[in-house]
Amino acid sequence: MGTLANLDLQLLAAASDPSDVTTLALAGVIASAGLRPDEYQAPVAGIGVEEFSWLLESEFPYLDWDVHLDLRAAQKRAAQPGSSIDEFSDLLALLWDHRVEDDTRSLWVACAVSTACMGANHLWQDMGLPSRHLLGELLATHFPSLHALNNQDMKWKKFFYKQLCDRAEIHACRAPSCAVCNDKPVCFGPEEGLPLAAMAPQGLALHA
Ligand code: SF4
Repeated sequence: MGTLANLDLQLLAAASDPSDVTTLALAGVIASAGLRPDEYQAPVAGIGVEEFSWLLESEFPYLDWDVHLDLRAAQKRAAQPGSSIDEFSDLLALLWDHRVEDDTRSLWVACAVSTACMGANHLWQDMGLPSRHLLGELLATHFPSLHALNNQDMKWKKFFYKQLCDRAEIHACRAPSCAVCNDKPVCFGPEEGLPLAAMAPQGLALHA
């Protein structure tokens, strides 16, 4: 296992606008690859190697070339979503159906959000973002109609999976509605916690 120490910082230092929420999110998901389960360790699942190189060149134009090549190799090596992780495709389709722009960057964000959904923490944490508020801003920017549907402020991963169940007409919930459900605290709430970067001892690592 090789380590690209402080990869999140390296990416943001190489960004043309490190304060842009989309750039922040893409950097966070790429840098968090090593924290996801083995089958989801592509820096951004769902896109090919050439497309990923283009993402790096576009979002992080000043990135050290060796780091670019290491990330490109990690993207190439990682399994791409297939039938064994159908849920990834479903999440991607859900987000894509709510895109406001039909452009490449929206696709990158949809893939990055779907990739981060495979992590074990709150979505904002798995996206390497510094706060949940920025996740809301990202979703409102790229998928405003989906963002607006979460008008009860459900936890984002729970909300996405509830949407998938509703689309498939699967009634997985034991209660007829959230209002009378004993599991409500599990699905709703503030999604508190520290950014994962703050918890990692030496920055986020990429398994390579
Ligand atoms: S609160 Fe209950 S009914 Fe609502 S999504 Fe969660 S489990 Fe389902």
